[in-house]
Formats: sequence, structure tokens, C-alpha cells
Amino acid sequence: MQTKDIPKKKRNWRSLKVLTFLILATLAIVPTLIVGQIMQKQVVNDQISSRMRQVQGQLLVLATDLGKSAYMQGQNDAIADAEMTQVSNLYDGRILVINRDYLVKKDTYSLDEGKVNISEEVIMAFRGTTSTHYDEGNNYFEICMPVYDESGNEVIGALLAEVSTQTLATLSTRLAQRLRSIETIVIAIAVPAAVLLALLLTYPLTRIHTEMDKSAAGNLDSTLKVYDFRETEAISNSYNNMVARLQRIDESRQQFVSNVSHELKTPITSMKVLADSLLEQENVPVELYREFMSDIREEIEREGTIIEDLLTLVRMDKPDQELTIKAVNLNLFLENLLHRLKPLAQTKNLDVVLESFRPVTGEVDEVKFSLAISNIIENAIKYNVPNGWIRVTLNADYKYFYIKIADSGIGIPQEAQDHVFERFYRADKSRSRESGGTGLGLAITQDIVFMHHGAIKLHSEEGEGTTFIVRVPLIYIP
Ligand code: ADP
Repeated sequence: MQTKDIPKKKRNWRSLKVLTFLILATLAIVPTLIVGQIMQKQVVNDQISSRMRQVQGQLLVLATDLGKSAYMQGQNDAIADAEMTQVSNLYDGRILVINRDYLVKKDTYSLDEGKVNISEEVIMAFRGTTSTHYDEGNNYFEICMPVYDESGNEVIGALLAEVSTQTLATLSTRLAQRLRSIETIVIAIAVPAAVLLALLLTYPLTRIHTEMDKSAAGNLDSTLKVYDFRETEAISNSYNNMVARLQRIDESRQQFVSNVSHELKTPITSMKVLADSLLEQENVPVELYREFMSDIREEIEREGTIIEDLLTLVRMDKPDQELTIKAVNLNLFLENLLHRLKPLAQTKNLDVVLESFRPVTGEVDEVKFSLAISNIIENAIKYNVPNGWIRVTLNADYKYFYIKIADSGIGIPQEAQDHVFERFYRADKSRSRESGGTGLGLAITQDIVFMHHGAIKLHSEEGEGTTFIVRVPLIYIP
């Protein structure tokens, strides 16, 4: 089997079950992981922005209050100090007030008071710009805003807040832990669900495979009824049609083989009977010897004809049977054919007429087509009455040519008409045998006509005669 040559690793990737599992599992797990990550980032960012807005609001209130008081001019203001301490405690941060000389006037951590601060943010604040900066790595953010005098025109100082975001980082870690446990639950559910779904989806295919194996083992009676999905129903129907066809082929093959054996045995049995009767007698007169030997010779010829016809049929059955197609003048073709068969027709003193309605050229394999038409004409001679007639007509339209062979013979009984194209079928056994028929002639003819994409039909009245009509396309399309 082919699978034996494929390495196991590759075979897994080619397995629909494995692929279905992987796709389903990926579809369930990957979005959960991505959404989790995005959500975690989003929640933390929202928290930080909201914290920044709150601190900025408080600083604005402080800056307005400081601007109104004389705090920036050096005066102490216990209320302002308390306010700053409260804000810095509330937000876990440090607030610095810087005066016009870039000296730190107030530091809620009391570390930098009296020191100079000429950081970029402070300079920007003195230019009237509020700046914010978030340092994710060190978990804090800075806001620096100007303090305007009472008129609101002149910057008299700067307020700098450094706020820790450590608590938010802890929140983020907790959130991540929650998400991990949700993801674990999703994976724990998704993996078995994907395994189950993959098994369920591919189960019908496994059944198809099992049933097909049964047929392959020789059980052509098993039918496929995997109707789980529309697709498997279609496969089942096509498969059953194919098996039915194979059954018919198998039956006809068996029938053919038994017919062949029977047909080949008949002449041999006759020969044995003839030879035995000669051997059993003593002092057989020479005339009797000659008579029996000529009978034996006839049987040998008969055997030879059957074998020849069988070989022709077998060759015809080959699927890659090639035709040597060429344009043939059919008027001339029929004239030659009738000329060749004239001596046979004369044995019964038959009147043979060829009627051509127009010159016709058709694309055929001349050798094979000649065999097909002569089989019909030979039958018209064999199954004719003495002094009868045969009329062969050639006609054509824009697409097909028609050859009609009518005879005044014994005709074919109605019930036999459907069977005359079957191999070894004979309507009139004794007459067929007498005239050296094998029962294969019309089967060969039909095969050849079909190979030319043509059709053949017959009309017959018992005791009145038979007409065969062959219709073949003028142009052969392979
Ligand atoms: P056979 O070798 O017996 O002639 P065919 O296949 O050529 O075999 O024909 C099958 C049977 O059809 C013949 O045995 C015969 O009974 C019948 N048949 C064929 N052609 C004619 C015909 N023109 N008139 C009467 N019977 C015919």
C-alpha cells in the first residue's frame, strides 16, 4: 500500500483527523491568548491614564491656589503644604514646587528643598507647557505644570509630581494570573472538544474506508450507506453506482467465460465423437474415413473461426484501443465490400443492390469498419432465403452518414431482437451453426460502431426480413 512508503511524521500531517484537531484547537486557543494579552494591556493603560488625569486635576487645583497666594514669593502657607502632603500621600507620590529661580521651594519628601532643578520638564513648565511622562520600566509617571500668577499671564513657578505606579503593576500581575487561569480552563476544555470534534467529523470517512476495504477484499455485495454529511452521501452514492457497474461487468465476464468454454468445447467434443467411432470400428471403408475426416476438418475450421472472433473481441475490449482514422470514400468502400461478398451471395442466388444517394466521405478506421459492415452483410446472406434480395443504402446529412442493410431473410423473433448484439447469442442456433456462425459477429460489429461514436439499430419481422441501420458521425472526434 502507498501509505507504507510515507514516513510516520509526514503521514500525521496528511491525516485529516490530526489537521482537523489542530485547526479546531488553534481556533479556540489562539484568540483566547490574544484577547487576554490585549485586555491585560488595555486595563493597565486605562488605569494609568485615569490616575494621570486625577493627579493632573489635583495639581491644577494646587497650582491655582499657589498662584493666588504669596507662597511663590516666599511666604509660608500651612494650608498649601497640607494640601500638597495630602495629594502626595493619596497618590503615593512626591510633589515639588519650584520657584522662578529654579530652586525647589517645597518637596513633600523634604529631600531637594533649596536645591536647583533645571530639568527639561521644569524649563518647559516655565514656558507655559504642561508635560507628562510615563516610565513603564521604573513604574512611575511625572507631571510638570506651570503655576501662573493671579492675573494668569505670568508663570511664577512650576509644580512637579512624581507618582509611583507600583500598585498598578501589582494589579497587572494579578490580572495576568487570572488570565492564565482562564486560559488554562479554555485549553482544558478546547483540547478534548477538538479531539472529539475531529473524531466525529472524520468518523464517516473511517467508515467509508472500512466498507471500501470489504469490497476490495472481494465482497461486491456490500453497499455504502454513510449518509452523515451531504458530501459522504454523495461519495456513498457514487461508490454504490460504481460497485453496481463492477457487479454487472463481473457477471458478464463470468457469463462470457462460461460461454467461451462451452463454445470451444463443442467442436472438440464433435471431433472426439468422430475420431472414437472411427477407432472403434475395424476395417473402416476409405469413403467413411474420408467423410469423417472432412467432418473433423470442418470442426477444426469452426474452432479456428471462434478463436479468431474471440481474439478480435479481446483486442476490441482493450481500453487504449487505437483507431487508424482516415477519410474514406464510403461509396467505393461499400462497392468493394459487396464485390468481395458476391460469391457468397451467389450460393443462394441473392439479388444484391447498392443504393447511394450521394457521394459520402466519412472518417473511419477502414479495416475495423469493413469488418463491422461485412458481419451484417454476411448475416443478411446467411439468414436469407434462396433467390432473396439484399439492399444496401448509403446516405448522409450534415452530421452523420447512414448505412442501411435490408434483407428478405428469415427475420429475427421479437424477443430475440434485444439480444442479438450479446456475445454468443444466436436466435436460430441450428442455422447459425450450419452456416459457421459463432454468435460473436454482431457483438464485434456493435463494439466497432461504438468505437466510432456511432449507433446501431434493427427492425425485423419474422419471416419477412431484417433491416440494420448504422449511424456514424462524418467527422471522428476522439
Ligand atoms: P452468428 O455468428 O450466429 O451469425 P451474430 O452475432 O452475427 O452471430 O448474430 C447473432 C444472431 O442474430 C444470429 O445467430 C442470428 O440468429 C441473428 N441474426 C443476425 N442477423 C440476422 C439476419 N440478417 N436475419 C436473421 N437473423 C439474424
